[in-house]
Amino acid sequence: MAKYVYNFGKDGTDGDATMKNLLGGKGANLAEMAKIGLPVPSGFTITTEVCTYFYAHGQQYPPELEAQVNEAMAAIEKTMGKKFGDTKDLPLLVSCRSGARESMPGMMDTVLNIGLNDKTVEVLAKKSGDERFAWDCYRRFIQMYGGVVLDMKPKTKTDHDPFEELLEKKKEKAGVTEDADLKPEHLKELVKEFKAAVKKQTGKDFPDDPMEQVWGGVGAVFGSWMNDRAIVYRRMYGIPHEWGTAVNVQAMVFGNMGNDCATGVALTRNGATGEKGITGDYLINAQGEDVVAGIRMPKKIEESLPKDMPRSWNQFEQVALRLENHYKDVQDIEFTIENQNLWMLQTRNAKRTGFAAVRAAVDMVNEGLITPEMAIARIPANDITQLLQPVFSGAGLKGKQEIAKGINAGPGAATGQIYFQPDDAEAAFNKDNNAKIILVRLETTPEDLRGMKVAKGILTARGGAASHAALVSRQMGKACVCGCDAIGIDYKAETMTVGSKTFKKGDWISVDGFTGKVYEGEVPTSPSEVLQVLFEKSLKPKDAPLYQCFQQLMSWSDRFRKLGVRTNADNPKESTQAVALGAEGIGLTRTEHMFFDHIDDFRKMILSETVADREKALQPLLKYQREDFEGIFRAMAGRPVTIRLLDPPLHEFVPHEDKEQADLAKKMGIKAEDVKRRVMELHEFNPMLGHRGCRLGVVYPEITRMQATAICQAAVNVMKEGIDCHPEIMIPLVGNITEYRNQEKIIREAATKVFKDAGVTPDYLVGTMIELPRACVTADKIAEGAEFFSFGTNDLTQTGLGISRDDYGTFINEYREMDIFSDDPFQTLDQEGIGGLMKIAVEKGKSTRSDIKLGICGEHGGDPASVKFCHKIGLNYVSCSPLRLPVARLAAAQAAIQEKKEKATKKSSSGCECCKDGGCKCCCCCKCGCRG
Ligand code: PEP
Ligand code: MG
Repeated sequence: MAKYVYNFGKDGTDGDATMKNLLGGKGANLAEMAKIGLPVPSGFTITTEVCTYFYAHGQQYPPELEAQVNEAMAAIEKTMGKKFGDTKDLPLLVSCRSGARESMPGMMDTVLNIGLNDKTVEVLAKKSGDERFAWDCYRRFIQMYGGVVLDMKPKTKTDHDPFEELLEKKKEKAGVTEDADLKPEHLKELVKEFKAAVKKQTGKDFPDDPMEQVWGGVGAVFGSWMNDRAIVYRRMYGIPHEWGTAVNVQAMVFGNMGNDCATGVALTRNGATGEKGITGDYLINAQGEDVVAGIRMPKKIEESLPKDMPRSWNQFEQVALRLENHYKDVQDIEFTIENQNLWMLQTRNAKRTGFAAVRAAVDMVNEGLITPEMAIARIPANDITQLLQPVFSGAGLKGKQEIAKGINAGPGAATGQIYFQPDDAEAAFNKDNNAKIILVRLETTPEDLRGMKVAKGILTARGGAASHAALVSRQMGKACVCGCDAIGIDYKAETMTVGSKTFKKGDWISVDGFTGKVYEGEVPTSPSEVLQVLFEKSLKPKDAPLYQCFQQLMSWSDRFRKLGVRTNADNPKESTQAVALGAEGIGLTRTEHMFFDHIDDFRKMILSETVADREKALQPLLKYQREDFEGIFRAMAGRPVTIRLLDPPLHEFVPHEDKEQADLAKKMGIKAEDVKRRVMELHEFNPMLGHRGCRLGVVYPEITRMQATAICQAAVNVMKEGIDCHPEIMIPLVGNITEYRNQEKIIREAATKVFKDAGVTPDYLVGTMIELPRACVTADKIAEGAEFFSFGTNDLTQTGLGISRDDYGTFINEYREMDIFSDDPFQTLDQEGIGGLMKIAVEKGKSTRSDIKLGICGEHGGDPASVKFCHKIGLNYVSCSPLRLPVARLAAAQAAIQEKKEKATKKSSSGCECCKDGGCKCCCCCKCGCRG
């Protein structure tokens, strides 16, 4: 019989930490904690397979499930020594929580205090000796169950929450402002009123039967896998919808049973900075959701728990340390202290910023806890860009008014316009993708995810370092200041007040997630610590601890990676910066960018009517290009430099407005009509696929000749200065060997002439971009001439998918929302389609020229998943913009480490590679004697 339910607790645990796919992260870790003897309230996990079944069978459960759940409930009763629904003795209450393979903080539903009804609440009151506690649990239960299971949560921002309204009224009537000041009789009245509200809205009585309540909770948790915010979250983090969630049903322990009780969340290292030491929030006499929701201002664990509850703190500190050593990673822990006894409710690898990820990983290697390989493998490669982002400092802050200070929950500097409502923020962003938005909220909830996603920074009035706002913004890499209690927010009036100042929606503020400070207006930023060391040289490495961690991680990455890493750069400054960030060469210089600095001369060449005129017009351009290339060769100091010949259609360089055309005609001493006519001739309806790429050089060979001459002259000049040069001349948009040969001939003739005249011959290559499907399928032919291929995946994606790279913004969001595309194909390589074409080109290219040099220079060269794909198909290097280089270095190392791991697993499971003997590699067992 299929097993759908796994028990955990001190009397027997079925699962462990390796079973995340089946038990979800929470379930697997609860089982692991129970297994290693930590105090975990007993419970059971319903597997993710049940979730898959549930959605495949019209929200029905497998028939075997009910009996397995009943048996597991009996096991909890036995271990905890309490009965579920007991009307005589202290009753067992349970919680019901989600738990997917990857944690999705706050995105799915939870129900606490299941098992309470009008009878059990009386026993709970009597046996606990605390009537207020019992009735407070009961009213919370109805409120939570009503919202989550009975679907009574407000649907829009203008809807009212019936339970909150009744609670507010009750407090008003009782003359109190805090929930905690309501007396038992108020809570009893509230329970009645809540139940009446349920009957009114749903037409049914609130369920009294504890088992019915359990099934209600289980169904709601499975149902929440498909709620809007969970879907958005999965899309954002690439979590497959098919995975499903597990459900954890667990005995309740109470942090709200008096002043020797507490509940909290903690990280074993700082989630924002990575510094060692426990950080977190807790509340005395409260339930878990109070801490993360930011409704009450929590206390800092590291500051006051040792004083408030010394015994529990000691126990907690030991458990936290043990968990970090056990999992060898920063842990995010949920706990409850019930009458001074510590209970562990959850542990998981903590979400952290890029700063914290790098710092903690590097520290852990230096502490001997993990290996450099483990450090590299665990840092999401994209997160390292956070270390390069600008900060507020020095001159930028001069004269700026600090208006408030909160908790520095998500490092980064953000400046933008205030928005109070997440959907308004989203609408503003959809209108203008460059909109700078600061989302200002009392506290955030998972409903705010879309607004948080589009904001540059997040500011909340309530909540601590472990609040939802802090957690989610850290994961998103957004600047976040939370718990800023100096600000007052009026959602209705859409204003934020600080002291006597009022800020309206649309006003500019700046938030500094490093210091927790909030400033009025826009604050200009300065370069990050890493760039101050590498680019500006205004900081010494020894004074820059973050830089030191960054550098250590990069040097480990370079040790493991097999892929080369180059940059796309068009001038000496970019080239120098790229070298500082680890570039081993240039993978793409777009020569057309240089022409914009000499646009009049370039336009003269374009407007030439005859070959002779054009050749004349090319003369000054030859000089400019040569000087530009010399600068780049010097900056690259002997590293290979791939220079692409002119690619874009000429119409991109000519003026289209009447006035501009008239000005140009005047400058050139020709008639305005002639300029207009030539512009008309150059006009194209589909410029991406018209007269561009090598087609320009085929029709105007003198352009190719000039560019090849400029490159070769620059190389020999720089070599004469004693600097080595390795130019790689790249022909764009080749689809046919005949096009390639046509251009190659011109290039080689020009090179031979220059080298002969100079008496110096650099080591140079001629090759091509591969950016058309035809080039991929005829790559064996093209490789007869081309010494290297560089995949231009921007164009290969547009031509392979038949989607214009400039016009896909009109539908891509819908495609992503509808899961037609899992990623934006212009950012992350479509491995199946475009990647398939690349594989063909690699195989065919190598079949003709086994040592052909293979690279990629499209935007995908700086995207982690695409870099890993490039490693897999055997490219020699990836090339990306300078600031993406650290991402590429890290991703390339991750790919190599992953491959090594896979090979080791394959080897140990299949034994000897030659004779396929089993795992044992001893001389007797391995038939061929190679010992695997
Ligand atoms: C490409 O097409 O991938 C490429 C690098 O060239 P461009 O973006 O200049 O067309
Ligand atoms: Mg291209």
